[in-house]
Order: sequence, then C-alpha cells, then structure tokens
Amino acid sequence: MSGAVILENLTKKYGDRTVVDHLSFEVERGEIFGYLGPNGSGKTTTIKMLCGLVAPTEGTARVNGFDVRTSADQIRMSIGYMSQQFSLYRTLTVKQNLDFYAELYGLKGSIAARRKEQVIEITGLNEYRQRKAAELSGGWKQRLALACAIVHQPPIVFLDEPTAGIDPVARRALWDLLFSLAGSGITFFVTTHYMDEAERCSTVGYIYQSKLIALGKIDELRQLPVVDDPNFRHFELSCPKIMQSFQFFRSREYVRDVTIFGRTLHIVVPERVTIADLMEEINRTDLQITDIRPIKPSLEDVFVTLTEREDSKREARS
Ligand code: ADP
Repeated sequence: MSGAVILENLTKKYGDRTVVDHLSFEVERGEIFGYLGPNGSGKTTTIKMLCGLVAPTEGTARVNGFDVRTSADQIRMSIGYMSQQFSLYRTLTVKQNLDFYAELYGLKGSIAARRKEQVIEITGLNEYRQRKAAELSGGWKQRLALACAIVHQPPIVFLDEPTAGIDPVARRALWDLLFSLAGSGITFFVTTHYMDEAERCSTVGYIYQSKLIALGKIDELRQLPVVDDPNFRHFELSCPKIMQSFQFFRSREYVRDVTIFGRTLHIVVPERVTIADLMEEINRTDLQITDIRPIKPSLEDVFVTLTEREDSKREARS
C-alpha cells in the first residue's frame, strides 16, 4: 500500500523567497510523524499545502491518494486539521461545537449522532458536554479541538503544534490519546517544538530554513556518523551544583560541548577521556558529582549538530 502522505519536490515561494524548498518524503499509514524545525522554517506552510489550503509553486504531494494540485476539496473532506489558531466557537458548548463540525463535514442523522458520541467518549469530554468552549482549560480545549478534527473519521490528521501552551499533565494526556488513535490506524502528521514529544514519534523530519535536513526513525538519527562521532563520547553527570558544574566544564578546553538537562549535565569529550579522568578532575573541586554515565546523543544533540553543519555549509557557499 502506498504512503498516507507523499511529497514530491513540494515547494512554495512567496515572491523571490522560497519558504518550502523541494521537499520529498513519504509518511507511512498509521504512524505518528513528527515535523520539527525552528520558527519560520516552513512547517505551517508545508501543512497548509498538504491540507489543500495553499497551492504549491512547484512539485506536488498526494494525501490519502489525492493530488494537492487537483483534488484540494477531496483532501479537505478526508483529513482532520488542527491549526495553531484552531477555531473553536468560544461561546458555544462542547456539544454545539461538535454539532457545527459534524455538519461542516456533511455528517447527517444517526451517523452524525453516533460519531459525536464516539469522539466525546474517545476524548473523555463527556462531563463537559454542556460547558462553553471558553470555559475549558487549555488541555480540554485541545481535546475538543481534536474531537472536532476527527468527528468525520479522517484517516489522516494534521496537528500544528497541538500542545503549545498547555501544561505538562495535559500534554501527556493528549499524547496518550494520539497513541491510542494511531493504534486504531489513524496517521498523524504533527509539528512540535518539544523534544520529548518528538521522541515519541515513530519517524521525524527536521526542516531548517525551508529545507529538510534530517529524516528518519529516532534511533537512526542518533546514530548518524556526523552526530555520533566515534572520536567523541557523551556522558551524563548528576550534580546538585548544576550551574557551577556547567561553568566548570565549559571552561575546560577538552570539552567539546556541555548542556544542562534538568538536574544533569550532558558533556561531549574526546574519545580518549575516560570516566576515571573526569572523576580525577572533579575530585579536585567541590562540585559533588554523584554519578557519571555514558549516554547516546539526544534528539536535541542531533538537531543542533545538523543545524550547525548546515550553517557552516551555507557560510562556505556564500
Ligand atoms: P513555521 O511554521 O515553521 O514557523 P511558516 O511556514 O509559518 O513557518 O513560515 C515560513 C516562512 O514563510 C516565514 O518566514 C513566513 O514569514 C513566510 N510566510 C508564511 N506565509 C506567508 C505569506 N502568506 N506571505 C508571505 N510570506 C509568508
């Protein structure tokens, strides 16, 4: 079976400016595809083209078998789309919002009634059905937005930063919901800024300055030679005095990179530096490192490394 979403040199230009540059990749059915990139890199424009809302300048894409250039109407009816400014009607109740979207998607009679009940059940909105959208918390608003986006049972759903601005508990709950929906066969194309969310995706693509610079399963990306350079090792250090420890390792000339991760430090050092060497140095300070362990590069390391490499390639060209 062919992919749920297939991009073929998909390109968008505004005037002289190319904001999405010849993207070609495929998203398999039933997977959660994470689409990442800094602000302004072209994520929303890509999604808008895939949803048939913006016409490509060059290239094309097929979504659920329909060509975005010729079948935008069919695409719009067969996908779910939750944008950053998803338009819930604030003064309408949960139930009335669902009524509106069910009608918009052409659902009628007993089918409409059954689907609305199903999505209320799936998203756990039952006790809020008479509440106005404006009075829901951020997390519940997003659940309602998702319920509206899937009321017509689309096989593919596009979510543009679905968890921006909601608290961590609600974020996790929304992801649990996405997993269970993906388990039932829905394909999700999701943009996010959160690395922990990206780690939950089956495949991720990373767009930088309008070009796709990484694509693959998380473990494949972590093992890219440019990221997991055999000449260097990555360690995680547990340390109560996190800022002092950060300053200390930043000042060591042999440390290639140091970053704070919660209450731990991640450092990258040449292959010849051992845990014993690090312990010896630390014992000469009062940093109280409680644990050191070797780790694999994180997804954030992957994107930082690939972005730096892309920047230096561009500098060399200009
Ligand atoms: P992202 O979603 O990654 O933040 P966008 O796709 O929203 O990025 O935007 C990519 C670039 O395209 C930005 O520089 C933005 O200003 C530009 N852009 C988006 N829409 C338009 C438009 N309608 N006209 C001109 N430029 C646009």
